[in-house]
Amino acid sequence: MRKALAIAIADKGTDPANTPIAALVVQDGRLVSSGVNRTAECCDATAHAEIEALRAAGHATGAMRVEGATLYSTLQPCGMCTMAAIWAGVTRIVYGARRSDVHKMYFEDRHLSTLDFVADAYKDDLTLEGGVLAPDCARLYFRPGDDVPDDMQANT
Ligand SMILES: [Zn+2]
Repeated sequence: MRKALAIAIADKGTDPANTPIAALVVQDGRLVSSGVNRTAECCDATAHAEIEALRAAGHATGAMRVEGATLYSTLQPCGMCTMAAIWAGVTRIVYGARRSDVHKMYFEDRHLSTLDFVADAYKDDLTLEGGVLAPDCARLYFRPGDDVPDDMQANT
């Protein structure tokens, strides 16, 4: 997680407005790939850090799946990324800031965690660990009480 934090800050700084979210794919103890959020830069709503890391893993390995890999993310993955991780063969997701640590704009749902929903609905062998270095990760994002202008929210 320290590596993911370092990548997020090195690539995108510490201003929440720049969405400094980073993700890593680790397989058999080896770093396979990393990614940072590129939604604004690429005009691509699917360019979340986790998706970018999974795409980079495919390029790095020449395979669609990274069987048994761990996906690290500085922020709790959304449902889309959780599902993508499942399609990619990831069996463990470790994340930093939890949904309770950050502004609601980071999540597409209103009443439930799609991470938990997707994991519960589709997999028995997906391990989830949240809150790793949560204070350090949450510092990079808008907080629950922050007054974030609508045009800066991806999910309004
Ligand atoms: Zn996502």
